[in-house]
Amino acid sequence: MNITGKKMQQNTIYKTIRQYSKGPLSKEDMYKLQEIAKDYGYVKNYVYQRYGGVGSLGKLFPGYTVQNEMTQSGLRTQLGLPSVYFYCAVFEALGDIKTQWTKIKSGIFAAINAHESFSIQEKHYLRFVVKVNGCFDNILNGKKMLIPENMLDAYSRIWDEDGGSDICAEKLNKYVCRQVRKRLHRLHTENTYGFAITQRAYRYGWQGKEHGIFISTKENRKRVFVPLTDENEYKKQLYIQLKTEEGAIQIAVPIEQRIRRHKEYRNEIGISLGIEHMATVDNGNIYGECFGRFHYEMVEYLRASNQTYRREGSNNPGRKKYEQHKEKLDARMETYVNQELNRLIAEERPKIIYLPKLPSGGVQGYNKKINYSVTVWKRGFVRDRIKQKCLENSIELVEILGKDISKECSKCGAQGNYQGERFLCNDCGYKEDKKVNAAKNAKKRGIICQKAKGERVSALI
Ligand SMILES: [Zn+2]
Repeated sequence: MNITGKKMQQNTIYKTIRQYSKGPLSKEDMYKLQEIAKDYGYVKNYVYQRYGGVGSLGKLFPGYTVQNEMTQSGLRTQLGLPSVYFYCAVFEALGDIKTQWTKIKSGIFAAINAHESFSIQEKHYLRFVVKVNGCFDNILNGKKMLIPENMLDAYSRIWDEDGGSDICAEKLNKYVCRQVRKRLHRLHTENTYGFAITQRAYRYGWQGKEHGIFISTKENRKRVFVPLTDENEYKKQLYIQLKTEEGAIQIAVPIEQRIRRHKEYRNEIGISLGIEHMATVDNGNIYGECFGRFHYEMVEYLRASNQTYRREGSNNPGRKKYEQHKEKLDARMETYVNQELNRLIAEERPKIIYLPKLPSGGVQGYNKKINYSVTVWKRGFVRDRIKQKCLENSIELVEILGKDISKECSKCGAQGNYQGERFLCNDCGYKEDKKVNAAKNAKKRGIICQKAKGERVSALI
């Protein structure tokens, strides 16, 4: 049995690089970009509205129909939007609709698997009709199923199984419809601050001594020039994000990155994240020891500035300086987190990382004060970076239930208590740093959960 061999081999992932405008844009230029963003959002909502329902499922793949119908709709001329933006918006919205269907389907698969009163044959039938195009869309639209020819054998096998003849297709089809109704929501965007752009609508270049980007506008042949802080040039679809209040733009560039594979990474480690120390490993190693200090400095700065701000009102000329300094502190944190996570991966050489899940909102025992300071700096940033780095290095990340993870003794499993930063078990006398104990529990729970998963998989095969 080779589980990993069945997974699709993926060799690249996407990572986003950003470019920033240099100096504020003129009001007129910003207005021209806003016009595009507004229409872009409008087109997306039109597509969501028209193709987001069950009736359009058959048109989504491969999508030419939608493209043709959108061309014929006359919407583009009506808006006066250059076609390059128009089709970017159409495809982005279509992508969102497809993503939603993928999520709906995997939600239904999970519901089928968890359903206790379905027989094995019924589950086979359900998985088949949800998976196969021609079944799924027709069921949802109350039409006769069209089973693709190459699937006919597989389909008849379901009925030939023991108990197959007991399947009531009508009842199961209704179940599928109910499951979809529960999950399908009409998509909508309020976002008028950005748009995607392909190479046909932009060009990098120089204007005088400034390097920047020329962006097509709704005015024929007129491009807006935006100076940039770097001189990099890319040849791919970009995403332009407008920061209207600051008169600035940010460009997101998706960069393809090869996944690194480290055969020599064999360790399984548990990690506990913290406010003081960014990450503590179950072996006692700490990464990001200055995280707490940097964080504290940031919180203090924001607090002090907000007091001044409240006192002096919004016309405060110091506001701009504040934004700049805040950005600098932000950047320092980001760089620091990245460096320390790189160090963690290089030194711990993990094959698997076990990480406790975030407690869901309102969980008891979640310290309000900690909660406040976490939200001051981007909540979840460290976690997101860990996810990204695991992807980049083909390290398996396993998230485990974090409930009571710091209260439990990692040695005997009894409930213990704290003395400051120390964990103390009254049952077995175990003493350990609080965070190390939590990281050990993460690893322990992770290994148990992996083992259970392995057994479930082998039972299926
Ligand atoms: Zn104990």
